[in-house]
Amino acid sequence: MRSQYSGPPPERGLFCNRTLNMRAIKAVGYDMDYTLIHYRVEAWERRAYEYIRDRLVEQGWPVADLTFDPMLAIRGLIIDTAKGNLLKANRFGFVKKALHGSKPMDFDAQREAYNRTIIDLADRRWVFLNTLFSLSEACIYAQLVDRLDAGQLPGPMGYVDLYEHVRKNLDATHMQGRLKAEIIADPERYVIDDPETPLALLDQKSAGKKLLLITNSEWAYTEPMMHFAFDKHLPDGMTWRQLFDVVIVSARKPEFFTTRSTLFEVVEANGEALLRPHSGPLNRSKPYFGGSALELERHLGLSGDEILYVGDHMFGDVHVTKNVLRWRTALILRELEDEVRAIAAFRATEIRIHWGLLTRAGNDKSHLARQVERYADIYTSRVSNFLFATPFVYLRSPRGSLPHDPSLPGGTPVFTTGDGAGSVPTE
Ligand code: 5GP
Ligand code: MG
Repeated sequence: MRSQYSGPPPERGLFCNRTLNMRAIKAVGYDMDYTLIHYRVEAWERRAYEYIRDRLVEQGWPVADLTFDPMLAIRGLIIDTAKGNLLKANRFGFVKKALHGSKPMDFDAQREAYNRTIIDLADRRWVFLNTLFSLSEACIYAQLVDRLDAGQLPGPMGYVDLYEHVRKNLDATHMQGRLKAEIIADPERYVIDDPETPLALLDQKSAGKKLLLITNSEWAYTEPMMHFAFDKHLPDGMTWRQLFDVVIVSARKPEFFTTRSTLFEVVEANGEALLRPHSGPLNRSKPYFGGSALELERHLGLSGDEILYVGDHMFGDVHVTKNVLRWRTALILRELEDEVRAIAAFRATEIRIHWGLLTRAGNDKSHLARQVERYADIYTSRVSNFLFATPFVYLRSPRGSLPHDPSLPGGTPVFTTGDGAGSVPTE
């Protein structure tokens, strides 16, 4: 997990875990939300949070006074639904920091709870915060645990039931049209513009790569948002639709990568989007709904190692794609920009005060860092970073280090001094 890319600025590098020759990549698939389009996290998550909270108020819960706390959670934390805790774990799954509800656990309580526990994300007890969309969920869950402990919520209810209730309401918030309608009506408020993202795609297209859009968002949201984020930055007369060879909305990732679902064509008629079952070749001028990655591979006539998929969701975009299909994968991790700057300036504690760096847990790599290493061939803070390299760049992974490696001149010191001071800032 060290930069192979020396071009400026360092926090916007293309970081390589497994050697990737972009010349061999024939198609690049993109996720939309938090990949091609980056949101103002606090604005979006606060609004999503308010929708969940207001749904609970409508159900009679006394929570109208709760407010979103953007400092409570970061991506890569793990919710322990059995105990109502929010955890940061290291790469082995050992818990290094814990909150019960929104309150830090003291050392003894944390040791008592987790001394003999290794987190295995395959167990439903643990919920990994895979994306920036998870922050509202973690925040409201932690605050509701406080209320549950204080006997202020309708009962009887345990921490698991509480989590499931939050999850159900978050799902409903994303699925009902009101939140999305607000975003579409005022995109400037929610979207951070990046004029270079459309140019990065244009560059890849000019280099002969097929471009695919594969998003879980529905067509009614995808169309106006892509229009807003892309069209004004493309050459005159060109729209985002012309960039892509295949557009698939409501893809239902991760199932898109693992199961075969029916493919529909989205037919727009009188301002409404209707679905018509589709078979046969895909038409580049038409958007599709659902389907599966296997069907897409067949349509493209490509094998998995000729397709790069770029997304921000650790599990849905990157883990499954790599594990099941062996596609090449790129993770978009916007927080990396703060993280790299903080490491360079050696002021890890100044960002995200109580959780510290995203990719570290104590002296070690965090659980998130381990997943990035395992499943993302490359990772970078934003799609437009591809512009710093050519579409044919050969990205080479650094030589792996092992504890018995002799330290290289100018390289990472092997020893720590015993007072916790290592080669990287710790928390
Ligand atoms: P993508 O990142 O694949 O482009 O799209 C993400 C889509 O999933 C967005 O439309 C977003 O609203 C939706 N989404 C994000 N988190 C959740 C969730 O927890 N539940 C549901 N039902 N949808 C979600
Ligand atoms: Mg996404």
